[in-house]
Amino acid sequence: MANPSILILPGDGIGAEVMVEVRKIIDWYGANRDLSFDVSEDLVGGSAYDKHGVPLHDDTMAHAQEVDAVLLGAVGGPAYDDLDFSVKPERGLLRLRKEMDLFANLRPAQCFDALADFSSLKKDIVSGLDIMIVRELTSGVYFGEPRGIFEEGNERVGINTQRYTESEIDRAARAAFELARKRNNKVCSMEKANVMESGILWREVVTKVHQADYADVQLSHMYADNGAMQLVRAPKQFDVILTDNLFGDILSDCAAMLTGSLGMLPSASLGAPMANGRPKALYEPVHGSAPDIAGQGKANPIACILSFAMALRYSFDQGDEATRLENAVEKVLADGARTGDLMGPEDGTPLSTSQMGDAIVEALSASL
Ligand code: NAD
Repeated sequence: MANPSILILPGDGIGAEVMVEVRKIIDWYGANRDLSFDVSEDLVGGSAYDKHGVPLHDDTMAHAQEVDAVLLGAVGGPAYDDLDFSVKPERGLLRLRKEMDLFANLRPAQCFDALADFSSLKKDIVSGLDIMIVRELTSGVYFGEPRGIFEEGNERVGINTQRYTESEIDRAARAAFELARKRNNKVCSMEKANVMESGILWREVVTKVHQADYADVQLSHMYADNGAMQLVRAPKQFDVILTDNLFGDILSDCAAMLTGSLGMLPSASLGAPMANGRPKALYEPVHGSAPDIAGQGKANPIACILSFAMALRYSFDQGDEATRLENAVEKVLADGARTGDLMGPEDGTPLSTSQMGDAIVEALSASL
């Protein structure tokens, strides 16, 4: 059988630096676990604009549609700030998400014990935390029509429309229930059914999907504002949180900060299954291109490496190998390895990006 295929799009700034470390991990799996990938690499964001005059070339887009998974670093940077909106680096990323129809955004919030002191919450509240937010990504108030700023009488009115179809809610709910089955089998769905009709429909459809096909999964519902409070009060009560685009945007950033540094946060965006059964998938760290530290070997590669761990689990059905990689990250952190973002000014000399990558590769080898 052909090796699974991965398209790597390192992008701009530290995107390229952290991706070098992911390549080391991919090579390790090929050499040690009989798990080889057909890896290709291309441009996205500012680097694509520099070469092609657009942030994502049509050929790259077509290739992204064909591979088993896309792994992206980060896009953007001050050199591109004055470009027209239509060719800004971020447009490359948005085009990928839109044309691949990646409707389920998965953001884990996992607190490694060694970093529990980094959280703004008390250690016992976050220590051992492992939750997953599933955010609907392609609909809702960011896309609904009508939208715009209109004249109304003698003043202007700004309008956005929260709009969800039953099928959009249905497929997001299924993504969350499927995930829960691979985790602790619990889904909490969040909306504002108390004040929004779209929330009432959301709750109805989630309940229907649950009763029809996922009755083995424990389902609860919560108003999203209460969900925000519960996330900072007692986050460990959750396993999978399912929510819409707007609430998910806010709740996932809130949950992310429970765990400390931006340099630690992976994500996945999944679409419908392809002919081979694998979902359309884009994996990327949550952070941006970090122009302030780019080119200095200071970037933490862990967010990008953990994004590859998500690819192992959700695209390649290699849950055990994903756990091996997450354990290797946990081990190096427990042993005291830190990049600069995980240290205070008095904490000694940080590891470089490549030293952190090497330490994780070493921990992988030690796991055999
Ligand atoms: P950023 O995430 O790039 O950086 C925010 C802060 O976190 C910076 O101080 C940075 O040094 C630090 N940081 C981020 N990732 C780190 C890592 N892996 N290791 C160590 N430190 C890290 O966000 P920003 O500064 O607001 O944006 C910079 C550029 O990135 C902008 O052009 C923005 O549009 C773009 N951006 C892209 C994405 C993406 O590609 N998905 C996401 C956010 C921002």
